[in-house]
Amino acid sequence: MTREELLAKYSEPIPVLDHGFIQLIDVMGDDAAVLQAARTSTNAESKGPHADRRLLRYLFKHRHATPFEAANIKVLVRLPIFVERQWVRHRASWLNEVSARYTTLPEEYYIPETERVQRQSRRNKQGSADPLPVDQANHIRSNMDAVSRDAFKHYGWVNEQGVAKELARINLPVSTYTQKVWGTSLRMLLHFLGLRQDPHAQWEIRQYANVLADILEDWTPWTAEAFLDYQLEAKTFSRMEMLILREMVEDFDAEYIEYIKNRADEEGMTPREKREFLTALRLA
Ligand SMILES: Cc1cc2nc3c(=O)[nH]c(=O)nc-3n(C[C@H](O)[C@H](O)[C@H](O)COP(=O)(O)OP(=O)(O)OC[C@H]3O[C@@H](n4cnc5c(N)ncnc54)[C@H](O)[C@@H]3O)c2cc1C
Repeated sequence: MTREELLAKYSEPIPVLDHGFIQLIDVMGDDAAVLQAARTSTNAESKGPHADRRLLRYLFKHRHATPFEAANIKVLVRLPIFVERQWVRHRASWLNEVSARYTTLPEEYYIPETERVQRQSRRNKQGSADPLPVDQANHIRSNMDAVSRDAFKHYGWVNEQGVAKELARINLPVSTYTQKVWGTSLRMLLHFLGLRQDPHAQWEIRQYANVLADILEDWTPWTAEAFLDYQLEAKTFSRMEMLILREMVEDFDAEYIEYIKNRADEEGMTPREKREFLTALRLA
């Protein structure tokens, strides 16, 4: 997809949560920019799309990361303050956020859907478990709504007293929506997605990450594919785990090793990847 096609496809804000959105503002560079940056090192020329895709996958797999900084993205995001508080931790990016010292914030706050009103997880102190019964969840939602509405009523009243906006805002809840323009490199977008599409990340920020992942697929399809294959759906094994894995496969006979090689071909692994895989398992 060209830059123009991409901007046309994402010209409208994509809704996220109840009042949020992501809108693509601009991109600079794409998969081709990554390859061009990488080829600067070797002064080499493209040998066609097949070789290009292979090179990009090689760069990603072997963490030759700087070429992925040659492409950049800029989005407009509307999100609850508690989500922004997690997002803002990603320092390798830039942003400009609406200032509630200058402007009065509209009465927009996040109320989770009924099924999102989940119990505290016992296993994961940061996580949510099963949903509460519907009646109880809806009762909690109305209560959340009433508290937020009251906070905004108070906000309006303090503003009417002539108090400075920077002070009038201090009792607004973290569910209040804020807005920012956010930009980062492709490299750091992938870093963000790796952390925020992960099931350990809070459900709300994951919804934003998923929209960015959709844009990524259209913007840099080869990078998105490599990211999925080598990061999002990949696992790293520790030294101990590798020892056990090697023990598990050490008695594989030649026929079974041949079967593994065929499976690797079926999965689209390159000869180099196949070699690296078998070497890691000490089968080559
Ligand atoms: C599931 C989850 C739970 C979390 N829980 C908590 C929590 O309980 N409390 C909390 O405070 N945070 C928490 N965080 C935030 C987390 O610790 C990171 O701040 C956040 O994920 C941003 O990651 P980052 O620093 O790698 O990204 P960025 O800030 O974008 O940095 C990108 C990379 O640049 C490099 N870099 C940037 N700045 C420096 C620096 N100063 N020195 C060295 N290298 C640097 C690092 O390699 C870094 O990985 C959580 C994050 C996740 C995903």
